[in-house]
Amino acid sequence: MTHPEHQRRAYLQAMGIDVWLPRDAEEADEGVGAASAATIAPEGAPTDATTAGWEELRECVAGCTRCELSASRTNTVFGVGNPDADWLIIGEAPGAEEDRQGEPFVGRAGKLLDQMLFAIGQSRESVFIANILKCRPPNNRDPKPDEAAACREYLERQIALIRPKIILAVGRIAAQNLLGSDDPVGRMRGRPHDLDGIPLVVTYHPAYLLRSPSQKAKSWSDLCLATRLVAECDA
Ligand code: URA
Repeated sequence: MTHPEHQRRAYLQAMGIDVWLPRDAEEADEGVGAASAATIAPEGAPTDATTAGWEELRECVAGCTRCELSASRTNTVFGVGNPDADWLIIGEAPGAEEDRQGEPFVGRAGKLLDQMLFAIGQSRESVFIANILKCRPPNNRDPKPDEAAACREYLERQIALIRPKIILAVGRIAAQNLLGSDDPVGRMRGRPHDLDGIPLVVTYHPAYLLRSPSQKAKSWSDLCLATRLVAECDA
């Protein structure tokens, strides 16, 4: 004997068993096909980051122990800004101050990033800012490939939830990780790239621009390129 899906779910809920459904299946709920898509996860099972909503994803990140950085972090740095942003800014990894405050780009480089955003009519509140890594590598060393790989799912889910019109990769680590390239920033900047259908522009990291202010003009031209790509997207 087969039970209608809603009845089966009511039984399972009454028994304290969580029923996990892919988002699409939930929407097409009444269909017979949806029933076969149901999977039952044991109670307390970690949320699947690949299908998580914002709050679930935030919780996944806050409790993450996928790599060794979880042992040394003070706070995870999930990202900040507008979940419906047109612009997604992706940096490298939290530094000491970001680790302390749990927010990306709050140090000197962050102030310059704020100014760069202001120059294109954006702000920390209008864009979304995230990093390749959610946890600080000790002594600000470069992220290790296994750390970036462990964290990638979170960033990919953020990209999928935001669906930005443009991704601005700031610095070598962000650009190389996102584009799967070994090229230096100088070779990747100045032209549009594509990340799964989303235009992506590479520019210099604000920390580098603080050390090499003569490169600011190039960074400005990258921001102008990104602005043009957003305008094309809106046209
Ligand atoms: N540098 C980054 O790349 N990200 C931060 O959050 C801070 C500094």
